[in-house]
Amino acid sequence: MNPLYARMGTTIFEAMSARARETGAINLGQGFADGRGPEAVLQAAAKAMLEKSNQYPPMIGLPELRGAVAEHYARHQGLNLAAEEVVVTSGATEALAAAIFACVSPGDEVICFQPLYDAYVPLIRQAGGVPKFVRLSPPEWKIDRAALEAAVSSKTRVLLLNNPLNPAATMCGADELAMLADFCVSHDLTAICDEVWEHVTFDGARHLPLIGFPGMRERTVKIGSAGKIFALTGFKVGWICAAPALARVISKAHQFLTFTTPPNLQWAVAEGLATQDGWVQEARHRFQHGRDRLRAGLEGAGFAVLPSAATYFLSVDLTASGISLDDVSFANKLIDEAGVASIPVSAFYAEDAVTNVLRFCFVKEDATLDAAIARIAEAR
Ligand code: PMP
Ligand code: GLN
Repeated sequence: MNPLYARMGTTIFEAMSARARETGAINLGQGFADGRGPEAVLQAAAKAMLEKSNQYPPMIGLPELRGAVAEHYARHQGLNLAAEEVVVTSGATEALAAAIFACVSPGDEVICFQPLYDAYVPLIRQAGGVPKFVRLSPPEWKIDRAALEAAVSSKTRVLLLNNPLNPAATMCGADELAMLADFCVSHDLTAICDEVWEHVTFDGARHLPLIGFPGMRERTVKIGSAGKIFALTGFKVGWICAAPALARVISKAHQFLTFTTPPNLQWAVAEGLATQDGWVQEARHRFQHGRDRLRAGLEGAGFAVLPSAATYFLSVDLTASGISLDDVSFANKLIDEAGVASIPVSAFYAEDAVTNVLRFCFVKEDATLDAAIARIAEAR
């Protein structure tokens, strides 16, 4: 057996959701929204399943979806991608795997930031790569050029960026992205940008993609997910966007991961990208309302809540809230005693974890949030 997997635990998102299912706890752990997503997308998926082909679609995705992704980014982010530069994948998770396998050879170093999404390090290691961590710290979680320069070496090939950043709920500003672009160009790095949260941004802030910065068009892999755009996490339709030379190699990795993605879901996402900008905008306001409601409730209960500019999540600083337990212990206390699932932020670190920050998902109905707040207040 491969020791990488034999020694590995179950991802915290599944572990917490399983406990919530078993105990009936309110699940503010794993990131998924209440509600059904846009009705038009669901109808399109059902209709396509009944009326179109359910046999293998093209390996790199339906041309209609690849075109819709390119048009979507032209409209929202001013990018000039061709449909040929889009490869459809089974969620962003598969996109990450395909991009990392395609860009990382054994011994290559990959710069990644902590906190990081828990799939990154196993995928880098599976490729034979070596992760090099740059640590970001609350409450600012800012990227520092000096820390990047300290992490880079002649073996570094890839910079892996999650922007907006889960679980910090921050977004890179234009200055930070310009610095990252300059860093990638000066060290001849490929940037893999996990931008699944690009549309879940608040207070009028807009996501800027690194691929749009000087020198980055040919060296960036941009990853997106329909699961996040339409709050349909079970769809598992994602994509990578990259210049043809990169996209071609990534499609070779993709062909032996999943080969392709269910065609009815691809049709539905193509339809959604073309017609559901209004739904996405409305959802952003609804999610912001949830953020503000949970923040107010937790602050009312005496918690120190960290800012959330994007994603489905906000976090509390336990130490600043006067709680002496670490994040894992307090998360266990909450699920066991209060019946509320959360995610300890230490799960997003491969080493030297921040252990006093706990993450909550706020894209839930008001009544669910209110019930959770009451239970959490009681438990502290
Ligand atoms: N990257 C990040 C940063 C995520 O938060 C998630 C899940 N929310 C994913 C990737 C996985 O996305 P998907 O469900 O499309 O595979
Ligand atoms: N990205 C989601 C989160 O941060 C979880 C995804 C998963 O469960 N694989 O909650």
